[in-house]
Amino acid sequence: MKTIGLIGGMSWESSAEYYRMINEEVKLRLGGLHSAKCLLYSVDFEEVERFQAKGEWDKAGDLLGNAAFALEKGGADFIVICTNTMHKVITHIEEKITIPILHIADATADQIKKSTIRKVGLLGTKYTMEQDFYKSRIESSGIRVIVPNEDEREIVNKVIYEELCLGDIREASRVYYKKAIQNMMKEGAEGIILGCTEIGLLIKQEHSDIPLFDTTVIHAIEAVNKALEN
Ligand code: GLU
Repeated sequence: MKTIGLIGGMSWESSAEYYRMINEEVKLRLGGLHSAKCLLYSVDFEEVERFQAKGEWDKAGDLLGNAAFALEKGGADFIVICTNTMHKVITHIEEKITIPILHIADATADQIKKSTIRKVGLLGTKYTMEQDFYKSRIESSGIRVIVPNEDEREIVNKVIYEELCLGDIREASRVYYKKAIQNMMKEGAEGIILGCTEIGLLIKQEHSDIPLFDTTVIHAIEAVNKALEN
C-alpha cells in the first residue's frame, strides 16, 4: 500500500471526512484490521482564507507547497489537496515536490465520463465557480459546466465560508442550495458537481433530482485506488 499525503485543514471539517472515507474504503477492500497509510498536514485555514481574500495566491501557494514538501519528506508517495479551491495553485505546489498530485477535478471528470451526463452544474466557492482553473479542467474532458447566477453564487460562497467551514449546518441554507440546483436543472444541467469539499455535509443525493458528484467522496476513493494499485 502506498502512503497518501493529505494537505488538509481547508477546512478541517472536510479533512475529517477525507480521513474517515479513505480508511473506510481501505477497510472495505482489504478487510480485517487494515487501515490507510497516510500523513495529514493540516494548515490553519484562517491564514489561507486571508491570502485568498487579498488575492495573494502566490503566498497561499508557498504555504501549501511547503506542506507538500514536508509530506514528501515524511514518506508520502503522492499528494491529495483536500479542497477544490486551492487547486488554483497546484503548479506552485508541484514545483516544490517530485511526487505526483491527484487532481480533484480530473478524478471528478473521470467519474462524470463514466455516466452519459455531459452538462453539469457546479457549486463551490466563488473562486471555483467564477475563475477558469477548475471549470476549464472539467471542460477539457468534453463536459459542459454551468454555474448559478451572480446572486446565487454570492450566497453559495457565503454559506461555505460562514457556515460549512465552521461545521454549522443550517436547514435554510439547504433549501437555498436545493433551489440553486433546480435553477441549474432548468438551464439544462443533467448532474451537479459538489465542487467544494464541505458541501456534502449539507447536500446529499436525496436533496437533488439529478445525480450529484461529490468531489470529497470521488477524491477520497480515487486516493485509495492509487494507494492500492500495483
Ligand atoms: N473546501 C472548500 C473547497 O473545496 C473551500 C475552502 C477553501 O477555500 O479551500 O473549495
